[in-house]
Amino acid sequence: MYLDNTHETMPRADLELLQLERLRETLRVAQNSPFYRERLQQAGVAPENIRRHADISRIPFTYKEDLRSQGQALLARPLSEMVRLHASSGTTGQATVIYYTREDIETWAELVARSMYMTGLRPGDVFQNMMGYGLFTGGLGFHYGAERLGALTIPVGAGNSQRQVQLMQQFCTTAVHIIPSYALYLLTTFEHLGVDPRDLPLRLAFIGAEPHTEDVRRRIEEAYGLKAFNSYGLSELNGPGVAFECPEQNGMHVWEDHFLLEVIDPQTLEPAAPGEVGEVVLTNLSRRGMPILRYRTRDLASVVPGSCPCGRSHRRLSRIQGRTDDMLIVKGVNIFPMQIERVLMAMPEVETNYLVELTRENFNDLMCVKVEVQQEFFQEDLKYLKSLQKKITAALKSELLVTPRVELVEPQTLPRSEGKALRVVDRR
Ligand code: ADP
Ligand code: ZN
Repeated sequence: MYLDNTHETMPRADLELLQLERLRETLRVAQNSPFYRERLQQAGVAPENIRRHADISRIPFTYKEDLRSQGQALLARPLSEMVRLHASSGTTGQATVIYYTREDIETWAELVARSMYMTGLRPGDVFQNMMGYGLFTGGLGFHYGAERLGALTIPVGAGNSQRQVQLMQQFCTTAVHIIPSYALYLLTTFEHLGVDPRDLPLRLAFIGAEPHTEDVRRRIEEAYGLKAFNSYGLSELNGPGVAFECPEQNGMHVWEDHFLLEVIDPQTLEPAAPGEVGEVVLTNLSRRGMPILRYRTRDLASVVPGSCPCGRSHRRLSRIQGRTDDMLIVKGVNIFPMQIERVLMAMPEVETNYLVELTRENFNDLMCVKVEVQQEFFQEDLKYLKSLQKKITAALKSELLVTPRVELVEPQTLPRSEGKALRVVDRR
């Protein structure tokens, strides 16, 4: 059940002591980088000042902008000791670059292996990695983790839908790593090929890299006949393997022996109580080449209160509700795209794809939500479609407090992405 029993079930008190010890060591390492040497000095923080958890708030935050502008000044070891670099996918703005030593790559692989083992992946499983390889951390991160675990790994990468299905059939794939929106999209290829994914030996899916709702997970599990586990990570903190769901499927355990987790109110910077949504702030506790301290991820989530029945002592993070920077302001109202997804995906008539378009007319914000409708419902009469449109509009209005214009479109007519889904187009 556990790959690393010593650490996964460590009593909280011991785990927190280990964190402090590793944090002091990380500060010592970070002091070798020109960027942190200066930052820590300015803040008057030295490793020996960190004695209790409360002392952590003395360490300055690191922002995405620091990584962009400072680049190699964050390296704590000579460039010649780095064996790999990755860059974030650049969802928001210019990409940031992360460097890894050989030891960092090994630690990372260990964490991804631990994560997948937790869900039940074992040697003997056939793992099809459908995430983009290359600069994006999702592909190689899982690849190394799966090999470390001992699963037979198919490094197919993203896209090429027909080939994905053929590979699953040919090699009897039992586990996949896939972006949730692409998992839904791939169902049309299965349909087209006349293959029922439920007839394949698939039993596990690792879904992540983008926010998604519980209903999306359920749709994937039902359509493929497997268990799907949420996987969270970001390139700034290695990549995947920061937090992962256990078989309880109720929050993602953050590997607290390797990451220091804080959830804060992004305005007041005060810690958020368990169950309260705030910005996730993460610190590397074991990275050697380029450790990052108190990174403001801009991801919004909460700590799941209480302990997990699985026996792991590491705290759990809720689903990511969105990013502080993907909040839309429409007619003065704050809206997160995930709220829209939650409403739409709870409706059985709605297909798996939608698009939000924002425009401005006469100084007024207009919000148009284009929704793909399941074929069977689209064949109904016009009166039916009108009433469905009304129903969706009303549901969105009660969630968002803004009345959108809802357009119903035929399935498979909205643009698709093989990477992270693009759900909002802001033309204002
Ligand atoms: P970019 O910031 O350019 O997208 P990354 O590829 O490093 O670069 O993506 C990390 C981000 O992806 C996270 O900060 C988060 O916003 C999102 N993300 C990753 N995993 C999940 C997940 N399981 N649920 C929701 N969002 C996720
Ligand atoms: Zn658990």
